[in-house]
Amino acid sequence: MSLEKKGIAVSHGFITGHILLLNQARTIVDKKKIKKTEIYEEINRLQLAVEKSIDEISELKINSDYGLKSEHIDILDFNILILEDEILASEVIQKIKKEQINAEWALNSVLTDKSKNFSNVKDIYMQERLADFYYIGERIIKNLRGNLDFSLDFEKDSIIVAHDLSPVDALKYCQDKNVIGLLTDVGGITSHTAIIARSLSLPAIMSLVDISQVLEPGNEVVVDGYKGLVSWNLKDDEKKEILKLKKEYSVLEENLLEFSKLPSLTKDGVEFLIKANIEIASETSSAIRYGAQGIGMYRTEFLFTSKDRFPSENEQYEDYIKLFSNNDFNDITIRTLDIGGDKLIHKNDDEANPAMGLRGIRYSLSNIEIFKNQIKAIFRVCSEKKKKIRILLPMVSTLEEIIEAKKLIESMAKEFDVDDLYNIGVVIETPSAAIMVNEISHYVNFLSIGTNDLIQYILAADRNNKELRPILNYYQPAVIRTISDIVTNSKEGTYISVCGEMASDILSLPLFIGLGINELSMNCHSIPIIKSAINELEKKDCENILYKCIKKKKSSEINTILKKEILKKVKKAKKIIKYEF
Ligand code: PEP
Ligand code: MG
Repeated sequence: MSLEKKGIAVSHGFITGHILLLNQARTIVDKKKIKKTEIYEEINRLQLAVEKSIDEISELKINSDYGLKSEHIDILDFNILILEDEILASEVIQKIKKEQINAEWALNSVLTDKSKNFSNVKDIYMQERLADFYYIGERIIKNLRGNLDFSLDFEKDSIIVAHDLSPVDALKYCQDKNVIGLLTDVGGITSHTAIIARSLSLPAIMSLVDISQVLEPGNEVVVDGYKGLVSWNLKDDEKKEILKLKKEYSVLEENLLEFSKLPSLTKDGVEFLIKANIEIASETSSAIRYGAQGIGMYRTEFLFTSKDRFPSENEQYEDYIKLFSNNDFNDITIRTLDIGGDKLIHKNDDEANPAMGLRGIRYSLSNIEIFKNQIKAIFRVCSEKKKKIRILLPMVSTLEEIIEAKKLIESMAKEFDVDDLYNIGVVIETPSAAIMVNEISHYVNFLSIGTNDLIQYILAADRNNKELRPILNYYQPAVIRTISDIVTNSKEGTYISVCGEMASDILSLPLFIGLGINELSMNCHSIPIIKSAINELEKKDCENILYKCIKKKKSSEINTILKKEILKKVKKAKKIIKYEF
């Protein structure tokens, strides 16, 4: 009987290959009592293991055959920084001295304590940064035991399966030409390892729970990195199906690339802009590949959370300038820092209700130097490149916040002499911003509807809570009516984009066209299909669909209408849509 497991598709692609099991669980550590006279020898052992770990990572930085990208270097530097951090080492040393125990055990218990401090934090950014500490702990333990890193001979079409893979090991092993995919028990879309898989275009699925225990070395597996599905033990007829699917997927990729070249015009000639949401600057190359007409939202959080400190103005400048290399995008939107509350990595993790805490613009205005540094870095790029940048302010809930941020940005623009080189917009993602949208639209150059948060706040339903999936859907009448009110109540002629995930939902597309939204910004991979669908829709029809939906009282009714209309009208992308629903 064939078996399958579903996880989170963190890097797209469809592959078949045989698995190579790298580790089945975290290293087991045994506790040993040491004599008082052995304490210094034990500390020395620890220090040598830490130094060895630093050397290994530095060596990987220097000796990569493939040339590392800057975000890879950042991740390796972040690992080295943790290793060099004296606080971690001194806590372990204190434990060795006080409890007279072996270095492995001391290190492991310091890491366990740290994880307890994080245990109430639900935010994935935080959990994934904690994962970085574990990877490093494992590396030190391996070196304490004298288990040197080993190199592997990968056979053709190897798919790495691991409980977890550190970013350092991912860089080390996944660049091998025989490695075609990665599967892990844990991890998610924003983990460093996922980012590396995406940047290497390596299909990867994470959060597969216990896949590293279920699969046996050599198993032939099928990895559907679109749906997040792994299957194995396939019968002959299923294998035939898979071959068919593989062909379909390669046609899909070809089609996507073909669609990416299409103009984003409706059948009756109404223009739309389709842009990319990116999380690291080098993703602009994927944005171009998939036909984006600009960057509609650069989420800058990763830049801030990938290090154990905030990046300097100069580091930010060096990152933002990369957004302009190798492309001729005129339109680039940088969203200011949206950490704070549940996305905060630095201190302040004691808020009772972080989703409603000091986050987004509230955090920036309470930490004015951090905000100023970010704006300065943006303006240095404007001034050097003579290109316009749109500055997008997240989590706005009052007019006062906009006025205060705008005043500061305007005065800084004068200093940098970039008055004509920027626009200010806000993300409409709180109910209060949606209600105050008319007043807000008089103060800013553009609006971007952040449906991810907007939906969570309208429905009072945590966007990360899987149990709430049935409530948390795009077709809730309250959601659609709120979006419609935002458009209707904004000042005449306001430029409005949608930057939440709903922008990439093909069923919602007629609603956005019907409403007269100007721009949709989405993950790169969704761009071609949305472009293709736009080409097959007419504005007039979409207005009628919107009219029908807005009167409905239940999400199921709206969903039925949209599904019927899309399947009827969208012909070219039909084959592809079947994978998305
Ligand atoms: C949103 O809330 O829709 C949005 C685009 O921001 P994020 O998902 O980063 O919170
Ligand atoms: Mg948001």
